[in-house]
Amino acid sequence: MAAKYKKNVLVDIIAGVLLGLILIGTIVFYDEIFPLTEPDSGNSNRAEYVKSKLENTKLFGYDINKFYFEQDKVLPNQIIGSILYWEGVPFSKIDELAKKSVDVFDVRQIRANKNYTLVKNDSCGDVVSLVYEPNPLTYVIYNLKDSIYVKKEIRPVETYIKFAEGEVKSSLWNSMRENHLSISLIDKMEDALSSEVDFYHAQKGDKYKLLYERRYINNKPVSIGKLLAAYYDNGSEHYGIYFESDDYKGYYNLKGNPSKKAFLRAPVRFSRISSRFSYNRFHPILHRNKAHYGTDYAAAYGTPIMAVANGTIARKGYGRGNGNFITIRHDKTYTTTYLHMSKFAKGIKKGVHVKQGQVIGYVGSTGLATGPHVCFRMKKNGKPIDHLRENFPSPEPLPDSVITNYYTHRDSILKLMNRMEIKTKKYNALVNYGFEAKYIDDEL
Ligand SMILES: [Zn+2]
Repeated sequence: MAAKYKKNVLVDIIAGVLLGLILIGTIVFYDEIFPLTEPDSGNSNRAEYVKSKLENTKLFGYDINKFYFEQDKVLPNQIIGSILYWEGVPFSKIDELAKKSVDVFDVRQIRANKNYTLVKNDSCGDVVSLVYEPNPLTYVIYNLKDSIYVKKEIRPVETYIKFAEGEVKSSLWNSMRENHLSISLIDKMEDALSSEVDFYHAQKGDKYKLLYERRYINNKPVSIGKLLAAYYDNGSEHYGIYFESDDYKGYYNLKGNPSKKAFLRAPVRFSRISSRFSYNRFHPILHRNKAHYGTDYAAAYGTPIMAVANGTIARKGYGRGNGNFITIRHDKTYTTTYLHMSKFAKGIKKGVHVKQGQVIGYVGSTGLATGPHVCFRMKKNGKPIDHLRENFPSPEPLPDSVITNYYTHRDSILKLMNRMEIKTKKYNALVNYGFEAKYIDDEL
């Protein structure tokens, strides 16, 4: 149920994006270059990689030259007992296996559409074991030969640095519908360049490059890790480079200025403004003119609402008009209030410190509201203001104590970004992660 809900939210988010908020064009993805652990090993590493693939003659720990493997997916309502029964495994053994599985991975936990593999001595031989894969990271061995035992194994995750580049041509979000990971990467790019680039006004011909981590299990990509650097060219060049030290963490431009502004522009991603701040507007429910001391962001029910800046929860409550609401005090000058929430986020209560971007609640329509939205209000020295017209103080650049370290890090990242282009062309390998991808020739 939870997964289904999440998917619906995702579809809503994409639909919101399709409304025309952002146009992102062709992205070209190249194949893996270097494992993270040995970023400088280049060709020798490639050789290692090929070698390890040839030497990998075991599947789930069974020698592929000695055993026979039958891979299939669990059918709806199918249980391990019935699979094994039809393979001729006696009921007493199945019963013993089920009992032993309880503490490791209960046979009753198997789910339809997941992979399983029967390991046999040969195509018509007895079942040596059944291997079930609940997720790409894990496999469970139900061993029947010699002794009956159940063993859960976690596969090692390898992280590689990846490079992607692209050009804005048209909306590409249709092709991303199926691919959660791609959305997370675009999300991260926006994050890394949020104060440098206005993605609401992405233009045809804009170019970008991304350097990021991608996690693999058994040479199959499973998730996107950290975005290490983002580059965007919309007539002028912008960089967001990830940097972490004892006291500082985040994205910085070439000079060491943080990518994040002190205040986010909106408390929800992928929303649209349904009503602006005004001293006089016609109220849709009260049917009379009334000042609107806030900005309404329409978004799907359940969309996360984020704190727009660091601060402390000053109020959490319910009002007949406001519905569920939260007020955050950011500093001596500014407070923000978020109305009509469907529910509050876990752990949010008066006095709790929140960070910029932290989820404090979820979009709803509690109180006087015609549809799901968050009414976002900001006060400066106690007076309501239009946050979209406010010039906020810019965040401090990295101090002298760490700037030298940052420059060193920055230069190695830039080198990596440039070398990536050369290497990828050499290997001529292309991976399409759900984006429209074009073939890059060696000659280019
Ligand atoms: Zn409002």
